[in-house]
Amino acid sequence: MLNCRDVAHEASDYLDQNLSWWRRLLFRLHLFVCAKCRKFVAHVHITRDFLRRRGPLRASDQEIEQVMQNVKPSAPDQS
Ligand SMILES: [Zn+2]
Repeated sequence: MLNCRDVAHEASDYLDQNLSWWRRLLFRLHLFVCAKCRKFVAHVHITRDFLRRRGPLRASDQEIEQVMQNVKPSAPDQS
């Protein structure tokens, strides 16, 4: 049987159906008995769906420049 760490590492492969049938069965068995992992996998699923529907994030040149202006003063002195 898989442990919680295995489930955390293989959640994406499970959701993408990239696990072997045996591994998928073990994964489902763990989810059946472990509420924390069921919740974790559900959150991963929701987050992935949201990000896929939203599409790639793009920042304008102005937004990038604003971020860089805020980052530069806090960068360590290299002298
Ligand atoms: Zn678990």
